[in-house]
Amino acid sequence: MSDTVQFPSVFVSHGAPTLILETSAGRDFLAGLGRRLGRPSAILAVSAHWTTRVPAVSGSAAPETIHDFYGFPDALYRMRYSAPGAPALAGRVAELTGAAVDPSQGLDHGAWVPLMLMYPEADIPVAQLSVMPGRSAADHIALGRSLAGLRRDGVLILASGGAVHNLREFRFGGTGAAPWATGFAGWLDAALEAGDAGAVGNWLDASPDARRAHPTDEHFLPLPVALGAAGPRPKAERLHAGFEHGSLGMHAYAFTAAADAAAEADAKVDAA
Ligand code: ZN
Repeated sequence: MSDTVQFPSVFVSHGAPTLILETSAGRDFLAGLGRRLGRPSAILAVSAHWTTRVPAVSGSAAPETIHDFYGFPDALYRMRYSAPGAPALAGRVAELTGAAVDPSQGLDHGAWVPLMLMYPEADIPVAQLSVMPGRSAADHIALGRSLAGLRRDGVLILASGGAVHNLREFRFGGTGAAPWATGFAGWLDAALEAGDAGAVGNWLDASPDARRAHPTDEHFLPLPVALGAAGPRPKAERLHAGFEHGSLGMHAYAFTAAADAAAEADAKVDAA
């Protein structure tokens, strides 16, 4: 092993804002994920809740916790995730992608809810990257590709959206999932298992259930960024699957380069 751990890029589904207040399989999964991944040097959180026309990265040294939701319990509005910002990482992201550095952007709940569960000590520097609903999933894969080198420096690229995200069909506390929801999740699993970045880049045509699973694009778009950040030959591992409130797919995936996997296998052989 080199001294710097190469992290996979990771996609998580953050569910409803109340995820952090409730008991659920999705919450338990996120609460164990930080220990499972280990401690990165910094985190680049790609959030579905920061949408821009062109790529933007947060440059604040002390990002505020944004409570970007309405009508939820008071306890949620009192929560703060006081991790330091990562201006140096933001600068590198800007160089690699051409993203504009926004010095005032804080952490929205797409970033802080999973981070508070994964790394509750809030002591790892975090920068946030936007998604662009006006651009295609293929464009977001390309954006992710330009970030792949950050993984070699111990940066965790944590993309946060929803594997299935249809708020129109949300039923609070609902269990199970409709056929269109399981259909889309099954398509996504198969495409990722095959390492088929082309299908993911063309998701709206490739899956007949895509529009019902995602009436709007923004909760899907963090996933192609994470996929792209694995490099040109991505290998996906599904970390979690499940549905909450009937219409929110909570699936999570880790992405590595096929070459990373070969190197790990070599390391195991060497160690044996
Ligand atoms: Zn969300």
